[in-house]
Amino acid sequence: MSTDPTDRPLWTADEALARLQAGNLRFISGQARFPTVQKEVLADLARGQQPYVTILGCSDSRVPPELVFDAGFGELFVIRVAGNVLGPSILGTLQYAGLHLHTPLFVVMGHEGCGAVKAAIASRFDGSRQASRIEILLEQIIPALDGLDPQASPAVLLSAAVEANVRHTVRQLLATPEAKARLGEGVMRLVGAVYELETGRVRFLD
Ligand SMILES: [Zn+2]
Repeated sequence: MSTDPTDRPLWTADEALARLQAGNLRFISGQARFPTVQKEVLADLARGQQPYVTILGCSDSRVPPELVFDAGFGELFVIRVAGNVLGPSILGTLQYAGLHLHTPLFVVMGHEGCGAVKAAIASRFDGSRQASRIEILLEQIIPALDGLDPQASPAVLLSAAVEANVRHTVRQLLATPEAKARLGEGVMRLVGAVYELETGRVRFLD
């Protein structure tokens, strides 16, 4: 999520829909600008999915997991929510991935310049307020900011907060009974990661 202010959208809703429809037409006619998949592959995937990783990432338009990891259909099981936070629906989706898809790897991926984390910093340290439902979202991030230095430069603070937020989410997941059991069996791995907007590099955390 980016909080960069834009006075007016570049596209109207109708234009945006037309863009989606044109993109989908390119895709189904084999003229996608991104690597497309063969009809046989789609037919195969229609029978079922076996993604090898579950990724919890941010909704930010600049961080699309399939493109970032150059992954095809059926490879990534992706959950995207502003600030890559947890919540009942997210936890349900993760539990489904663990119990039914058995993805061996789980990745919590934050990103540099995250607007949701930036808003949480402003709320925690400057007392700024957002609309009610955004506030509920930020409440998931704010505890992750404990221990950060509010006197640090905004860029340093944001970078530290992005990583702290990823680690916070990872810690919460590690505390779930499923994670404890499956990690104990050694069949599952849970890692944090931070995507660098400017380089496109994903930095996996220890
Ligand atoms: Zn974000």
